[in-house]
Amino acid sequence: MARITVPEADAVIDEAFPVLDQGFVRLVDYMGGDARVVQAARVSYGTGTKTVREDKGLIGYLMRNAHTSPFEQVSLVFHIKLPLFVFAQMVRHRTAKLNSMSARYSVMQDEFYLPTADQIRGQSLTNKQVSEGGVGGEAAGQAAGVMQEQARVAYALYEEMLANGVGREQARMVLPQNLYTQIYWKCDLHNLFHFLRLRLDWHAQQEIRAYGEVMAMLTKLVAPFCYEAFEEHILNAQRFGGSEVEALKRLLAGEPHGLEGRAGSEFEAKLGLTPAAH
Ligand SMILES: Cc1cc2nc3c(=O)[nH]c(=O)nc-3n(C[C@H](O)[C@H](O)[C@H](O)COP(=O)(O)OP(=O)(O)OC[C@H]3O[C@@H](n4cnc5c(N)ncnc54)[C@H](O)[C@@H]3O)c2cc1C
Repeated sequence: MARITVPEADAVIDEAFPVLDQGFVRLVDYMGGDARVVQAARVSYGTGTKTVREDKGLIGYLMRNAHTSPFEQVSLVFHIKLPLFVFAQMVRHRTAKLNSMSARYSVMQDEFYLPTADQIRGQSLTNKQVSEGGVGGEAAGQAAGVMQEQARVAYALYEEMLANGVGREQARMVLPQNLYTQIYWKCDLHNLFHFLRLRLDWHAQQEIRAYGEVMAMLTKLVAPFCYEAFEEHILNAQRFGGSEVEALKRLLAGEPHGLEGRAGSEFEAKLGLTPAAH
């Protein structure tokens, strides 16, 4: 069987899609696509080539029933320029293969992620890990200014230490979390969908979500039917616990769902009856 190529993905190979103020995501390479998932699944089912419609149906069936291994037959390689704090979140996804720029080997560039005043978000009062809404006024301008000044001073100190002969591996210790670095990040499609489910979610920090959105767009080009199935059965799906299933039955019978407090509000948010409590 010939190597699988996807013209829509080939058209954007190496193109840098901007993220944040100076970051980007590039699709460096891919292996396989929808056709590879179908081939791999049919090896396990022992059946031959089918129509496009049947292929799409098979991919939906695999995704719906968590028959995940055929999706592992497809891989994508991204070149990503991202701030260190986003890198720290990317690194947690152990199933990806990763190489990063070495601040021991190279001098880091004077490149920092610097949100503007209108991009400074406030601390959520209902969820400890998320920010929401604008801070506005003086506080926003001050925060943006502090970040700029901190980056300027830190980089000047870094350069000074390098000029004085301090080793790169120690001089880098003064560089803040918003410094840009670069990685090559390779992941199979099953684990990439897992990454996207976690990092496109509103619980994830807005900055990594911005990277996730571009990676999702590129993934969709490589394997559009798989992406559609992922959206349908995972990204836009909801999981209901046992008591929530009982609550659903009550709703369908025209009764109040009967769940109280946080359990009740989370259940209603899952059904889109109320906004999610951030
Ligand atoms: C919104 C959000 C908030 C987070 N907050 C925090 C936080 O406050 N502190 C913190 O430390 N982390 C935090 N994380 C990171 C999180 O705990 C996970 O480490 C990260 O999302 C990677 O998920 P994963 O382990 O499922 O993915 P991967 O590492 O890609 O693994 C994929 C799957 O493979 C399996 N797997 C991989 N390696 C192993 C292994 N060694 N043993 C067993 N199974 C394995 C698991 O089933 C796993 O789900 C946060 C993540 C998100 C999305």
